[in-house]
Amino acid sequence: MQLKTILNRVQPFKSFVYGNAKWVEDTGRPTLEVEVHARKNGQAICSGCGRPSPGYDRLPERRFEFVPLWGIAVFFVYAMRRVDCRRCGVTVERVPWAVGKSHLTTSYRWFLARWAKRLSWDEVACIFHTTWRNVFESVKHAVFWGVAHQELDQIEAIGVDEIQWQRGHRYLTLVYQIEDGMKRLLWVAQERTEDSLRRFFMTLSEETRLSIRFVCSDMWQPYLNVIAEQLQQAVHVLDRFHIMKKMNEAIDEVRRDEAARLKRDGYEPVLKHSRWCLLKRPENRTDKETVKLSEILQYNLQSVRSYLMREDFQRFWEYTSPSWAVKFLDQWCNRSMRSKIEPMKKIVKTLRDHRDLILNWFRAKGTVSAGSVEGLNNKAKLTLRKAYGFRTYEAIEIALYHTLGNLPEPNFTHEFC
Ligand SMILES: [Zn+2]
Repeated sequence: MQLKTILNRVQPFKSFVYGNAKWVEDTGRPTLEVEVHARKNGQAICSGCGRPSPGYDRLPERRFEFVPLWGIAVFFVYAMRRVDCRRCGVTVERVPWAVGKSHLTTSYRWFLARWAKRLSWDEVACIFHTTWRNVFESVKHAVFWGVAHQELDQIEAIGVDEIQWQRGHRYLTLVYQIEDGMKRLLWVAQERTEDSLRRFFMTLSEETRLSIRFVCSDMWQPYLNVIAEQLQQAVHVLDRFHIMKKMNEAIDEVRRDEAARLKRDGYEPVLKHSRWCLLKRPENRTDKETVKLSEILQYNLQSVRSYLMREDFQRFWEYTSPSWAVKFLDQWCNRSMRSKIEPMKKIVKTLRDHRDLILNWFRAKGTVSAGSVEGLNNKAKLTLRKAYGFRTYEAIEIALYHTLGNLPEPNFTHEFC
C-alpha cells in the first residue's frame, strides 16, 4: 500500500491530489515530504471571496506540516497559485488543508490543540518536536473556531467569580454556565470591575440575556451592581461557598491576631499549627488535627469561639423553609454581635447587608448546584498553574477557554487523536 492511499483515506481533497512522497535527509529527525498537485482543469478559488477565479501566476513551493506518522514528520509541499479575482484583485488561492499564512495544516493544528487539553503546552511542544508558539497558535485557532460555532441561545443559570493570577497581584473575572448537563466557561475578562462583567452581557443577545433565571456570585460590590442592572428578571443567589469562605477568612484573622497577642503576653503558644484544624470541616480533618482541635477547645479563646460560631452557622444551610432560615440567620447575627470579636462582627454586618440575596439561596435550591462554581474555579486554578510561564493575558485567556469552555469542534473525516 502506498502512502497516498493512507492519505486519501485520512485527508481526502476534492480538487487536489497527492503526488510523490520522499524522504528528506539531513533534517535532524526522520521527515517525509509529500507533493500535492491541483487537479487538471480545476480552477483555483480566491481566498478573499471564495469564488473560482482565473489564474494569475504561481508562487514558490511552500511546506505545510501535517500530523506525524510513526514518529516521522510529514510535510505537504505545494506551490500556491495566485488568482486574478474580479472582486479582490490578485490574491492567493484558498487550499483545503491550511488557512492564511500558517505553515501548519489545519489537521495538525487540531491534533496539537487536542493534546494541549490533556498535557501542558510545553509538554505537547516537546513530545511532537514543535515550538511552544505553534502549540499556542493551534490552541488559539481551536478556541476561535469553537467560540464562533458555540450555541448560546438559552442559558438558565450562570455563576460569576474572580480568580487571582500573576502571583496574586491581579484578578480575572470569570462567568460560568452552571446548569445540570451544561457546565462551561462563558467569559473571561481582566480585572474585576463593573466593566469586566458588563462586557459579558454585551456579547449576549437580548433573548439570551433574558433567558437567564438564576445567577450566583460572591459579595463583590461591582458584580452585585452589574447583576442588578442586567439581570432584573433573575434570582440572584449569594453562593454558599463564598459566604463560608468569607467566614473562614475572618476566623483566620482572629487566630492570627490572637496567636500574636498570646506570644506578646508570654503565654503558651497553644494556637501554633492550629490553622487548618480551625478552618477545615470536621469530615476533612486528619486525626492529628482532631487531637489538636480538642486540645485548643479547652481554652476560652476568641479563635475557638469564632470556630464554634461557624460550626453553628452550618445549620443555616440545612433549612428548607426561607422563613425559618431567616429566623435562624437573625438570631445567629445577634449572638455573634455580642461576641465582641471584631472580624466576626464584620461578618455579621456583611450578612445583614446582603440578607435578601443570601436568602435567595433557599429560593433557588435544587436549581443551582452549590458546588458548581467552586468546581469550575478549581479547574481554572489548575489551568493557571499548568500554564506557568504564560506571561501574557492573551495566553491565559485562550488556555481557560480551551480547557473549560466545552467548545465544539468540527466533524473530522478522520480522528487523529
Ligand atoms: Zn475574490
